[in-house]
Amino acid sequence: MNMQLIREQFPILHQDINGHPLIYLDSAASSQKPRSVIDAVKRYYEWDNANVHRGVHTLGSRATDAYEGAREKVAKFINAASTQEIIFTRGATTSLNLVASGYARAVCGEGDEIVITPMEHHANLIPWQQAAKATGATLKYIPLQPDGTITIEDVEKTVTDRTKIVSVTHVSNVLGVINPIKEIAAIAHRHGAVMVVDGAQSAPHMAVDVRNLDCDFYAFSGHKMCAPTGIGVLYGKKALLDGMEPIEFGGEMIDHVDLQDATWKELPWKFEGGTPIIAGAVGLGAAIDFLTEIGMDAIEQHEHKLTAYAYDRLSTLDGITIYGPQQNRSGLVTFNLGEVHPHDVATVLDTKGIAVRAGHHCCQPLMRWLNVSSTARASFYLYNTEEDVDRLVDALQETREFFGYAIG
Ligand SMILES: *Cc1c(COP(=O)(O)O)cnc(C)c1O
Repeated sequence: MNMQLIREQFPILHQDINGHPLIYLDSAASSQKPRSVIDAVKRYYEWDNANVHRGVHTLGSRATDAYEGAREKVAKFINAASTQEIIFTRGATTSLNLVASGYARAVCGEGDEIVITPMEHHANLIPWQQAAKATGATLKYIPLQPDGTITIEDVEKTVTDRTKIVSVTHVSNVLGVINPIKEIAAIAHRHGAVMVVDGAQSAPHMAVDVRNLDCDFYAFSGHKMCAPTGIGVLYGKKALLDGMEPIEFGGEMIDHVDLQDATWKELPWKFEGGTPIIAGAVGLGAAIDFLTEIGMDAIEQHEHKLTAYAYDRLSTLDGITIYGPQQNRSGLVTFNLGEVHPHDVATVLDTKGIAVRAGHHCCQPLMRWLNVSSTARASFYLYNTEEDVDRLVDALQETREFFGYAIG
């Protein structure tokens, strides 16, 4: 990858923060946007903007083409069988809630099981808690190994014939663990359960093939993969989506409406009540073009190399604890520096122009398992370089000296 060319595409990266060139290491929370995405959204509003699906006028059909064209790009990007399986949502959170409300509540009852892991983001945890409470199902957890990974043996032990749903994150936003989704899906299916995947940290960083994974649902957010905020995707197998009732009702999603009853449009529109996120979808389509042109495999390799480099260099710092496995990890490193509070680490780094995240990363149960209240996290994307890592390590070295008393 030509790093200079890639970095030139991201206008936001070329500024000073607190007197230093910005080093953005918080892409796991939200990625930056390339010029092509910003321009696509701008062009849409300047030339094509109108509501979709209803207008007979030219702008209406241009907006519809742009919106439905983006759906085709998404379907191709994750290798879905058809655009009917691609539902636009507000993001991974909304997508997972749609499955928990629209599917889980319909199929689960007393004595049934929903299986997840302790490494889940709150977005792939609380919807299942709520669905379990509402239906009398039991929420079960596949245990974690000391390095934060799960084993296939434990999946085999946890999933039973009472299990209706297995929902696991593809990639952990804290540990960087990459879960063996295909193997877990096979186990789930053997027991008649469906496989739900939280793809918020995988879709942006690796080639994803939902048919090869054989997952039943796959959720992700646009804003973590170079697209605007407010747009996301739920992929679902057509047969399952066909069997589900919508959970939002109103315009756009209906076929025929009487005073007492109504019927729904076909897939995917029956799940897209109200005016959809048109400009967001246009931005997501442009983001997919951008990422595809560079190549998802090239992006994955770049991040893999960069993360290995970061892991090695960070490991040399006195008093640092790095969480998660050393091997087979995605593009992020979560750590603590002795007893220094991660918020203090992030604050000092910010004075040096370096943006990292500190907190519980929407994973409070995982923090408890790690026995910490919070951590710092540096996360990488296609625009980060070894120089960024060097600046981070140097800055952490200075932070360590500054807080030396707390490291011991
Ligand atoms: C960010 C994230 C989510 C939630 O995504 P939103 O865009 O906030 O809806 C869910 N799961 C994981 C693993 C994430 O990193």
